[in-house]
Amino acid sequence: MQYNATIVPPRRGGTIHFNTTIGGSFLVTSHLMPTYTRADLAFERGEGAWLVAENGDRYLDFAAGVAVNVLGHAHPHLVAALTEQARKVWHVSNLYRVPDAERLAERLCAESFADLVFFSNSGAEAMEGAIKVARKYQSANGQPERYRIITFEGAFHGRTLATLAAGGQKKHLDGFGPVVDGFDQVPLDDAAAVRRTVGPQTAAILIEPIQGEGGVRTPSTQFLKALRQICDEHGLLLLFDEVQTGMGRTGHLFAYQKVGVVPDVMALAKGLGGGFPIGACLATAAAAKGMTAGTHGSTFGGNPLAMAAAHAVLDVVLAPGFLDHVRQMALLLKQRLAELKDRHPAVIAEIRGDGMLIGLKPLVPAADLVDALRAQRLLSVAAGENVVRLLPPLMIGESEIAEALDRLDRAAAQIEATLAPAEKVEPAK
Ligand code: PLP
Repeated sequence: MQYNATIVPPRRGGTIHFNTTIGGSFLVTSHLMPTYTRADLAFERGEGAWLVAENGDRYLDFAAGVAVNVLGHAHPHLVAALTEQARKVWHVSNLYRVPDAERLAERLCAESFADLVFFSNSGAEAMEGAIKVARKYQSANGQPERYRIITFEGAFHGRTLATLAAGGQKKHLDGFGPVVDGFDQVPLDDAAAVRRTVGPQTAAILIEPIQGEGGVRTPSTQFLKALRQICDEHGLLLLFDEVQTGMGRTGHLFAYQKVGVVPDVMALAKGLGGGFPIGACLATAAAAKGMTAGTHGSTFGGNPLAMAAAHAVLDVVLAPGFLDHVRQMALLLKQRLAELKDRHPAVIAEIRGDGMLIGLKPLVPAADLVDALRAQRLLSVAAGENVVRLLPPLMIGESEIAEALDRLDRAAAQIEATLAPAEKVEPAK
């Protein structure tokens, strides 16, 4: 998100005031590097799908920490698992075996196409791992000149230098020096452009099954199938970034399972720890051929505390009926949102997405809708293409959906009231 900040220099213990182009003036803690546009709102605790602010106001959390808190807040199983592990051992490093990491890798592999897992601490790191796996694969096969990766317009893969280059967004790259070489970006859903771009240096194709940050843009299944075919024809690896779509977000444990296109490498993070920082790069044994001892590492990656969190998340997400419930609730939410769109045609132009990764495309600036929803104590997240994302915790039920819709209705009505008469549109009958 862009902002123009007027910075009042901090005094010790003081605060900096920002005047931003979105949503007016914000107050932020003084000594944090001002890289985020934060709302002036802090939460003290959470309960399920609700967050309680410092002043006691209760917010319905349809942001879930940007698709992270899949089990909501303070889920008893997660709390118990972390508390128990905290009393035993937090961190030992990767100088030693971590049995719970071995067990978690085994569970993830049993549920996916993968044979091997590398644990890291964030989505960007998981993606760095995926990029390294792809380059090393080609190198281990005697073709080190094949290092380039085809990526897609609108992509987001993280904020490290390589993942920024993979995302290719000018606003993110600006001012950070030479862009890391090795990424060729083509339009989404354009298989012919992908075919034209594959060359003797191409190592892999990298795609999000649904672009989250890019505006909840879903490539066609036909396109994803074409990517698989192109990879197979040219000896390339297919990398899926499921950092946002993974861990049940689409109603399936991994989005690729619904689409029926199987990657060679997949990055996970966000939902995997339910709020505890963890990332994972999953790969087939063939794709990870080059990842031998000493080729990659992380001090914290796969530590016992993170493993306990991820096991607890998996226990719940894989429990019989959980993903069925997610799919049912997602369907209900989508139906109710379609009705909302019909009631407020001057405010909501489009509903998009899959499962609990939903985009509302408003006819007003997305930031205005996010602000209006927050004023109704409903949390959402802005994305590219002027889209507002709804990313509720996956355990929400009918009552939270009804509550969210009431709040969405009120926010839309409030926006309507501010529109000039010519902009108002009669609701669909
Ligand atoms: N990949 C995707 C698809 C994402 O949505 C994100 C974060 O939003 C990332 C990678 C980066 O993850 P992190 O912020 O944990 O580094």
